Amino acid sequence: MSTIFKKIIDKEIPASIVYEDDKVMAFKDINPLAPVHILVIPKKEIATINDIKEEDKELIGHIFLVIGKIVKDLGIDKEGYRVVANCNEFGGQEVFHLHYHILGGKKLGTTLS
Ligand code: IMP
Repeated sequence: MSTIFKKIIDKEIPASIVYEDDKVMAFKDINPLAPVHILVIPKKEIATINDIKEEDKELIGHIFLVIGKIVKDLGIDKEGYRVVANCNEFGGQEVFHLHYHILGGKKLGTTLS
């Protein structure tokens, strides 16, 4: 089932897009938890980490190269940042379209819970 992120991909609803190519889009999180909070998503509709298939290997690799480019463009690569992907209920996933949070711009806490 499609999510709000599909609407962002299709430009049906606005987003503050920081990167886009034919396979991937990245935009600012609407409810930022850090000075830098960007979501990186595949344009392909993959609901959760559990749904990543063998055929998606290159796409997932590409996403991480895009993350590397974004953090460099934003100048936070050296100071550091965090990449988070939540999965299903216990992981706190709210939007069921695979996404990676980039969090940075400040020294982040160490708790994962
Ligand atoms: P999750 O909990 O890992 O699924 O994170 C979903 C994220 O999507 C949350 O951090 C939300 O703030 C964010 N979000 C939900 N709707 C929008 C939107 O329309 N634009 C940008 N970010 C959104």
